[in-house]
Amino acid sequence: MRKVNQHCEVRESPIHGKGLFARRAIRAGTRIVEYVGELISKEESTQRGLALMEQAQRTGGASVYIFELNDNHDLDGNFEWNPARLCNHSCDPNCEVVNEDDRLFMYALRDISKSEELSFDYGYDIAHFLDHPCRCGSASCAGYIVRADQRSKLKRRLQRRSNGKSLIARKKPR
Ligand SMILES: [Zn+2]
Repeated sequence: MRKVNQHCEVRESPIHGKGLFARRAIRAGTRIVEYVGELISKEESTQRGLALMEQAQRTGGASVYIFELNDNHDLDGNFEWNPARLCNHSCDPNCEVVNEDDRLFMYALRDISKSEELSFDYGYDIAHFLDHPCRCGSASCAGYIVRADQRSKLKRRLQRRSNGKSLIARKKPR
């Protein structure tokens, strides 16, 4: 394990790869860690998003660490020095990432027990959900990493799919 700060540390995760875990009980509303990264233009962000999508199609998986920051910039957090990137997605998360004056902070959504894995909703768009299966294990898991307000849509698509109809006409960049 590797200590990130007083609140959390990195450990092997049952969800996926490495994850962030509470080092001690964390109260709802606590600011846990900043999500840091490289400030990039929207154009650069699109390029990187495309590259990640190609990688996902080649290898069957790729994680997206890019957050929308404001109208002009996004933040790419895919760096060793950003331990918050290791925080896994959950369909029933205990944390959320909040944009405060163009800085991103992870807050506890509820009281979290010591050793609990931290998670937030990655908020991925439904457009390429097949690239991002979800193994969060929560009772409400949608099966894929898709943001909360699109999960009923996802359910309908999966139903249609199981009826043998085509799923998505064409993938497009994020
Ligand atoms: Zn899930």
